Formats: sequence, structure tokens, C-alpha cells
Amino acid sequence: MAMQETSPRYKRELATLTAMALIHCRAKHGDGRALPCEECRKFLDYAAERLGKCAFGETKPTCVKCPIHCYASVEKERARTIMREAGPKMLLRHPVLTLLHFLDGWLSGGRLKRWYRAREAKRTQAVRPSK
Ligand SMILES: [Zn+2]
Repeated sequence: MAMQETSPRYKRELATLTAMALIHCRAKHGDGRALPCEECRKFLDYAAERLGKCAFGETKPTCVKCPIHCYASVEKERARTIMREAGPKMLLRHPVLTLLHFLDGWLSGGRLKRWYRAREAKRTQAVRPSK
């Protein structure tokens, strides 16, 4: 499963990520140059690519809740830094995005449980073939 770049969910995830990366970049790397800086732009490209390949597709949980950690270690560390720093500022600067993000997290909770159950059922069948 993958996520279409035209899907509202994809656009929303990317908009949230971009907003957070920009807050982080402005605070840490901003020296009057165009934002985001080269480094942060590369991170966003990477994040967009991972997002497009998300194993959950449209039923994707928010990344914090995701059981699959699909980022490579360097990017994972960067994502953590960005979230830690920009997270608390998001509600004030992007209230709608933040609200939708929490809603996505909340809604995907039930879907994620169903995905797990389906996967477990499949696995059990594979281990014990029916007679
Ligand atoms: Zn930057």
C-alpha cells in the first residue's frame, strides 16, 4: 500500500511536516536566507518520499504512534529534534493543521488496531495451515 500524492491525507501530513521543519529551521538555521535551508529541504524531500511509501497508506497513523519506524537513523534523529522544538509552537502558529493532525491520530487508532488483527490472523494461518 502506498499513499497517493494527491490524497488529502498526504497533503496534510506533508503540510504539517513542512510547517514544523520551517519553525525549526527559522529558529536554528535562519540567518536571513531563504527558508528552508539546504539541509532542512533535503530532510523534507526524504520525509515526503517516506510518506509516499508509507506501508499503511491512507490508514496511516500519525508518525508518533506508528509501529513501523521507516526513517533511517540520521533522519529519525532530525525528525525527533524538529518535533521536540516545533511541536509546542504548532498549536499557536498552525491551529488548524494541529487540530487535524490530532484528529488523524485519533481516527487512525481504530483502523490501526484492525490492521494489526488482520495481520495477526494472516500470520496464524501461515504458521498453521488448515487441514
Ligand atoms: Zn534548516
